[in-house]
Amino acid sequence: MELYDYVIIGAGAAGCSIAHFLQEKKILIVDKTGICQKASNAAGAFLFPKVGFNTKYTKFVNDALLYAFKFYEKLEIKTNKSGVLILPRDKKDISKFQEYKKTFTLPYEEKESGFFFKDGGVLDSQKTCEKLTENVEFKQIEITSIKKEENFILNNSIKTKNLILATGWENVIDIPYIKIRPVWGERIEIKTSLSTKHHYHKNCSVSTNLDGIVKIGATHERRWNEKEPDKENADILINKAQEIVKIPEYSIHSMKAGMRAGSIDYFPIIGPVIDTDKTLKKYPEIKKGRIPKEVIYIDNLYIINGGGGRGFSNYIYSAKFLSKFLLNKTSIPEFLDTKRLFIKYARKIDK
Ligand SMILES: Cc1cc2nc3c(=O)[nH]c(=O)nc-3n(C[C@H](O)[C@H](O)[C@H](O)COP(=O)(O)OP(=O)(O)OC[C@H]3O[C@@H](n4cnc5c(N)ncnc54)[C@H](O)[C@@H]3O)c2cc1C
Repeated sequence: MELYDYVIIGAGAAGCSIAHFLQEKKILIVDKTGICQKASNAAGAFLFPKVGFNTKYTKFVNDALLYAFKFYEKLEIKTNKSGVLILPRDKKDISKFQEYKKTFTLPYEEKESGFFFKDGGVLDSQKTCEKLTENVEFKQIEITSIKKEENFILNNSIKTKNLILATGWENVIDIPYIKIRPVWGERIEIKTSLSTKHHYHKNCSVSTNLDGIVKIGATHERRWNEKEPDKENADILINKAQEIVKIPEYSIHSMKAGMRAGSIDYFPIIGPVIDTDKTLKKYPEIKKGRIPKEVIYIDNLYIINGGGGRGFSNYIYSAKFLSKFLLNKTSIPEFLDTKRLFIKYARKIDK
C-alpha cells in the first residue's frame, strides 16, 4: 500500500481548498461522488460582502472575501467581479441598513435605497474546485472504514500519515462536540436576454448575464432535507428575482440543490480533532466551566467544515490558516479552532 502524507475525504469547496495548499506534499483527495458534486455543485458561488452589524463574524466574512478575491485572481480563476447592489428586504431593513452603514469597512456607494459594493463577484464552482485540485491525485471512492494503527488505513486499501475530514453535512467519524447544521437550498440558471451591469442581492441573489445565462440562488430551509431540485422552488426563486429586476423572458437552463454545512456559531471549524473521552477523563473540571491547561488530540486527524452560505470565500481563507498550522505549526485563530466548540460542548454535558 502506498503511504500518503495527507488524505482528504471530501472534494467539495472545503476539501479542494485545503488540498490546494497542501499540494507540495504527497496527497490524495477522495470523494464518493466526484469533484464538486454535492453542496459545492449547487452553490451559486456568489462572493458578496456581508451587510450587518459590526460583529466578529461580519469582520471574518468580509476579511475572507477580500482574501478570496486576491487568491482567485493570483490563481487566474475568473470571479466575474462586476460589483453587487445589496438591497434592503423591507421597510424594517431600510433603517437597519442605515445602522449597518456606520460599520462598513469595504468601499461602497449608496444606490436605490441599498448599497453598491464594487467588491462583489461570482465564480464557476465546478471550474474553481477543478483548478484548486489540478495538481492533486483524486480517487472516486466512498470511505466506509477508517482504522488507526501507526497510520490511518481507509477501506483497507489507502494508507496515510494524516487524515483530513472535509465531508460537509455528512459524518464519516462521529465527533460528539461538532454538530453540523445542514441547510438545504436550490439555485437555478435561466437562459434570458436580461442584462444588468452588476449582480443583485435582496431575498435572493441574481447574477449578471454571462453567455446568455443568469444565475439565481438560493432559498434556504434550515433543516435536514436531501431532496432534489424542483420546479416549485424554481418558481419561488424567479418570483423573488422579479422583485429585484424585471426578467423579460426566460427558460430554465438548470436547477441544482444541495445542503450546505454550518456550525453552531456560524464560523468554519478547522484544526486537529480532540479526543473527547480522553480529555474529559483527564480534566473533568472542564465540565464545570474551567478552561483546561491542555486538550488531548487524536493524533494526525484534522477537520475543515462549517463554511456555511459562503463556502467559496470562507473555506479558502480558513484553509490558509489550516495549512499554515499543518506545515509551519503556526496557531489557528481561536474563532476557527475546534477547541472553542469542545469547550462549549463539555460545559453542557452535566446540565
Ligand atoms: C443552494 C446553495 C447555494 C449556495 N450559494 C453559495 C454562494 O452563493 N456562495 C458561496 O460561497 N457559497 C454558497 N453556498 C454554500 C457552499 O456551497 C458551501 O459552503 C460549500 O460548497 C460546502 O462545501 P463542503 O466541501 O463543505 O461540502 P460539499 O460540497 O457537500 O462536499 C462534501 C463532500 O464530501 C463527500 N463525502 C461525504 N462523505 C464521504 C465519504 N464517506 N466518502 C467519500 N466522500 C464523502 C461528499 O460526496 C461531498 O462531495 C451555497 C450552498 C447551497 C446548497
